[in-house]
Amino acid sequence: MIIHSKIHIFFVVATILLSSCRINSDEPVINFDKPSHSIVTQLETPHSIVTQLETPVTQLETPKPLPSVNNDPIQVVRNFYQAINNKNCDKALEIRPNYSKAACHKVHNIVIKKLELIEETAQEATLLLDLNYEKNKKPKYFSGLVILFKEGNHWIIKNKSFRSIQTLEQVLLNKPIDDSVETNSKEKKVEINSKEDETTQSTVPLCTKESFVVAIDIGHSIRRFGTTSAKGIGEFYFNKNLAKMLWKSLFQAGFTQAFLINEKGANITLKKRTAIAKRKNADLFIAIHHDSVQPRYLSSWRYKGKKRFYSDVFQGYSIFYSEKNRQVQRSLSFANLLGAEMRHNLFVPTLHHAEKIKGENRELVNKDKGIYRFDNLVVLKTATMPAVLLEAGLIVNRKEENLLSNPTYQKKLVLSVIAAIEKACRFWN
Ligand SMILES: [Zn+2]
Repeated sequence: MIIHSKIHIFFVVATILLSSCRINSDEPVINFDKPSHSIVTQLETPHSIVTQLETPVTQLETPKPLPSVNNDPIQVVRNFYQAINNKNCDKALEIRPNYSKAACHKVHNIVIKKLELIEETAQEATLLLDLNYEKNKKPKYFSGLVILFKEGNHWIIKNKSFRSIQTLEQVLLNKPIDDSVETNSKEKKVEINSKEDETTQSTVPLCTKESFVVAIDIGHSIRRFGTTSAKGIGEFYFNKNLAKMLWKSLFQAGFTQAFLINEKGANITLKKRTAIAKRKNADLFIAIHHDSVQPRYLSSWRYKGKKRFYSDVFQGYSIFYSEKNRQVQRSLSFANLLGAEMRHNLFVPTLHHAEKIKGENRELVNKDKGIYRFDNLVVLKTATMPAVLLEAGLIVNRKEENLLSNPTYQKKLVLSVIAAIEKACRFWN
């Protein structure tokens, strides 16, 4: 969260405490505890009860054998792909009822590269999946989320289509696919094509990673830690963790001159941060933050016996740039590169900073990529090099805090930033 002054912090804290916890009814409220629609239908539809009553007793005595019980969602997903590889499409459809036999027969040679559990509740599990496969004899790659839900004591794959997990938001909010997803997938195709062009042309500029200097600013400090997560953890710790992961990964990727600003979490001024970046001749300045909402959206809950504040109303990342930055074109250019990579990796921007209320009202310059203009952000306007501020996600959102605490999810964020840096390095050389 971006906070300008100490007085502001007191104001926010005071307002949080006095907050009437009002929720804007126009905004989608995420109810993670709500059972899936199909379960509700099964329980509540009178027709199914009638059917059960009318079912002859003989059928009840010889029930159809149920598919084998498996309580491990990872194993269930493995079984699904194993079934497709073995062309046991009936079994594949048992595990993923939305799948089609026609699709099952078109897909071959699936190799799971990565399958990790991101979150598991009693009713729902979210897994991150990377796999290679062949469709119509052409090699393909998929990276995204697989959502499972419990039906009885079986895990069922919920995804209607793996195209539908273009956006994390749509998975989490369980929204149907709309036109914007189609637009995104077209954008993605264009991007993939341009990538192919880049690799086949000899005029592609090269990135000299070892001489491209990236300054990574860890937002806030130990004492002035920024916002507080739904579970009561200070934002600074999220910023530090993600920034360090980014720095290490950049180093491993060859950006050996990347450096962290304020690793010790001292109370240094915002101007000092950009002065450090200037002294070290940084080519790019990235401030890492985690986000919150205005006090009106906060509600209270108890976590580990303590009263905490949360808001499940909004979720997603945002990117800020300043028109007062001395290299505004490159700042905006990097914001665009980063936004594109974030979308490519299924992250979804939050649009709540554009809401016309006190404390927000930011100009949303690119809705699809989540880019806001914020001219007077001190680190952005005082940086002498191109600069952006990344709000990686909302730690006041209970589900998003869990995701942002997950190393796999963090790695995905880091890889998005690095991919954008690599492009900037190439284009700016
Ligand atoms: Zn912050």
